[in-house]
Amino acid sequence: MTEPKLAQGPKADLGIKAGQETKEPGRENPKYLWRSGEMVEWDKATVHISQLGWTAISSVFEGIRAYWNNDRQELYVFHLDAHLKRLFQSMKIMRMTSPFSKEELSEAITGLLKANEFRGDSYVQPLAYFGGGIPGYLAVLERPGEIVITARPSASELSAPKVVHCNISSWNRISDNVMPPRVKAITNYQNSRYVSTESRVNGYDFGIILNSAGKVSEASYACIFIVRDGVAITPPISAGILESITREVVKDLLEQDLGVPVIERDVERTELYISDEVFICGTAVEVQAVGSVDRYQVGGGETGPVVAKLREQFLSVVIGEHPRHPDWCTPVYQGG
Ligand code: PMP
Repeated sequence: MTEPKLAQGPKADLGIKAGQETKEPGRENPKYLWRSGEMVEWDKATVHISQLGWTAISSVFEGIRAYWNNDRQELYVFHLDAHLKRLFQSMKIMRMTSPFSKEELSEAITGLLKANEFRGDSYVQPLAYFGGGIPGYLAVLERPGEIVITARPSASELSAPKVVHCNISSWNRISDNVMPPRVKAITNYQNSRYVSTESRVNGYDFGIILNSAGKVSEASYACIFIVRDGVAITPPISAGILESITREVVKDLLEQDLGVPVIERDVERTELYISDEVFICGTAVEVQAVGSVDRYQVGGGETGPVVAKLREQFLSVVIGEHPRHPDWCTPVYQGG
């Protein structure tokens, strides 16, 4: 079989070389992960090969960032409670109960970061799944899930502004009656993966997904805002988006700190082409300006004034220095 041909140009290089598919170059495994109540050495946390794949069908997860504040020598987990609340909501919709309370998982996460001695920006991923050899495709009434938490170093890009270039995907967004987007389910990410692969193959950074009504939903792993005539506009929850935690943070900062009103309403594709600014936001991408959509330049094609100020406020929030929101940050080391 011959390799599929990728579009030419630097953006078309997916950055993956043969044999490196399962491990990012240069990334060391952390010492520990947390599994069902215990810190387990990374290499000892194995499951039987027969569980591979099937458990993913009903697995749900969270992606959480922790930010290092060098002046305070402290690591802050950002919006830990909101992420655990959403994990429990995802589990509920899967009819999965949790053997651990939110408080226990919160302690597990700070404990794991401490056990791994992370003193830098990090990414934490709790995963809940039906274990015990029962395949995830079986219909079950309320059953407890198993929970695994992994953490790894992951540098923030907030102090190095980046402009991304997007296309409108030819794929549609999943919908509430098909694969509910508000559930952060592993399986939902096949939709995002079709979108992002198409974008990368065609030389874009991110795909923007329309819902089945043809309105803008979100980007492949992030929510989207446009700025038109001093007003920020973002698609509503019912547009097929993940109920994003960053989107709520951004709404608050825009309105309270930047004095930019925020409206939630349907957004049409061509509005992206004529907006003054477009940006995407999410735990992984943080806040990034969109320089073009379908090769239509957005505004000046660079980070616009609203996004620039927003990124500043966002940075102060995540490192625990925003005067209104110290409560959004959970310190890892202060507690002893
Ligand atoms: N949509 C999708 C599909 C995502 O994967 C993410 C990232 N979790 C987001 C939106 C943004 O959500 P959050 O701000 O909670 O990270």
